[in-house]
Amino acid sequence: MADGSAASSGTRTAVMQLDFLGDWKRTHRCGELRAADAGTTATLMGWVSRRRDHGNLIFIDLRDRSGITQIVFDKERNPEMHARVEAVRNEYVLGVRGKVELRAENTRNPKMATGDIEVIAGELKLLNDSKLPPFFPGDTNAPVNEEVRLKYRYLDLRRPEMHANIEMRHRVALAIRNYLASQGFYEIETPYMTRSTPEGARDYLVPSRVHPGEFYALPQSPQIFKQILMIGGMDRYFQIARCFRDEDLRADRQPEFTQIDLELAFPTEETIHEVVEGFLDAAFSSAGPTIERPFPQMPYDEAIRLYGIDKPDLRLPPMTDVKALLPPDAMETLLAEPSLPIVALRIPKVGELSRKERDEHKALLNEKQAAVIKFYDDFKRLEKSWPEAIAKIRQLSGAEEGDLLVLVAAPKREGGASNPASAAADHAAERRHQRDTYAVYTTAGQLRLALGQRYAARHKAFEGKTFKFLWVTDFPSFEWDPDAGSWTFAHHPFTSLHEEHMELLAEGVQTLHDPNSALGAIRARAYDVVLNGVELGSGSIRIHQQEVQARIFQALGMGEEEQKERFGFFLEALQYGTPPHGGIALGLDRIVMILAGAPSLREVIAFPKTAAATDLMMIAPTPVSEAQLRELNIRIKQ
Ligand code: ASP
Repeated sequence: MADGSAASSGTRTAVMQLDFLGDWKRTHRCGELRAADAGTTATLMGWVSRRRDHGNLIFIDLRDRSGITQIVFDKERNPEMHARVEAVRNEYVLGVRGKVELRAENTRNPKMATGDIEVIAGELKLLNDSKLPPFFPGDTNAPVNEEVRLKYRYLDLRRPEMHANIEMRHRVALAIRNYLASQGFYEIETPYMTRSTPEGARDYLVPSRVHPGEFYALPQSPQIFKQILMIGGMDRYFQIARCFRDEDLRADRQPEFTQIDLELAFPTEETIHEVVEGFLDAAFSSAGPTIERPFPQMPYDEAIRLYGIDKPDLRLPPMTDVKALLPPDAMETLLAEPSLPIVALRIPKVGELSRKERDEHKALLNEKQAAVIKFYDDFKRLEKSWPEAIAKIRQLSGAEEGDLLVLVAAPKREGGASNPASAAADHAAERRHQRDTYAVYTTAGQLRLALGQRYAARHKAFEGKTFKFLWVTDFPSFEWDPDAGSWTFAHHPFTSLHEEHMELLAEGVQTLHDPNSALGAIRARAYDVVLNGVELGSGSIRIHQQEVQARIFQALGMGEEEQKERFGFFLEALQYGTPPHGGIALGLDRIVMILAGAPSLREVIAFPKTAAATDLMMIAPTPVSEAQLRELNIRIKQ
């Protein structure tokens, strides 16, 4: 018989006699028994979550993924079994058969689903013992270091919170599958070992043994395959797909993550939006909350103007353009640049602020941001100088008593700023002015979010289950890459442009290395679905004509040789009757994280990687043997 000291030293207790399962079958899960079951016999199996020894009576909380049942071992009824249970410790695995009894009135536990009953053990199977674990999964109060949790993930997964998250993930994925199947989508798997897919990240590579010196790439997304499925007449495809991107990991990224990936033939944007709203509705209601449909839509340019960001958080009010309301002398006095936007930010219900609190606002801008905008957060003072204008600003921005209003402008420029009026004929100057304008909006947008966070406890807009969805549409097709000194794709290069912008493309190609190129004005048939300021997914209507696709590659400096080498098979496929098609992909991990109210993606992925892209349980990555390297024709540089 084992004693407690052996268990607590963490060594296995060799003398403990373990039982086999034999023909025992569970009649219930540990979270199922209720008062109505009193008088019946139940067989339960699970882990010892807690054990209380009251001498003649030993109480064990037996836990499985469904919950906990209290088991009573009574020395008087069964001294031999009682003696065995004295040696049992947390996380041992037991099978128990016994009578379900109502607990005495004063010992019932209304906080526990099974709190009205207990099981009086009649037979016991000691199915396994356990080393002393580094933490007790049943102890919800003790905080556990995340590295320890990830190293001992199997113990961590036993925690009720993890069961709940993983169960929710299952439920959400199932609801999405069922919905998409009901809409005529086929679930189709695409390869993991493939070639590079252009989503803009670095690839994970897999060396080929059979083809020395050659590599597969793990897919950054199934993008090309799903388009080829449309060429293959599959009509509607979806996959809950793993994607691999070797990116520098920010706090909440995983090197492999899961997307709900789909593609449709012959769709309009509306068709795709309806499908996505449909499956999100199914997913959210499977987890509890109902959502409002249809989601509002906002073109990218409007999102920038109103929220200063391409993923607006609608839980806080938009910014208001107020330049027209300010008299010229105000702009002079405030040293605000009159050719650039002046906006008012409103954060609701902030209340009176002290001078000190307002002074702290300055620290919300870094040096770069402070060069782009200046702000005035003392509206009482502004009001004294320009009472009428400020009253109108209050009204236009919908301010109520206690709201914080902040006026944001660009600092006045020496010799004036780029002037759109006098430069009407000069497209480049106009675009430069547009860039300056957007810089003011986006920096003001960053200040809006920083203030929103700072006063979250006062306005409370981020609390509770408010789900504000939004479609952001008509994204720029290209973005300026300051490091490369040229324009590049803002999405993957299969995204359709708006037809009326094809001319701009011809013009823009001449000025690939000019930040004020016409390429910056081209808008794509691309859309993002945004929830509470978080991008859940993005997609687009695709280019389905080979000639247009080749022209886009060309536009971005990809010569014919490179096109052939990287995408030859795809350009070829496009020539065999490609239907118009489009699709989208949404991050499943993120959706579940939001629904579970979890603080990180790692809480909703069974086996996540750390922020340094390592697996602490399996220990990966690892060096490999000389022999393996030799077979792959690879030598590691020392
Ligand atoms: N492949 C894209 C992505 O992973 C989504 C899409 O365009 O459908 O972001």
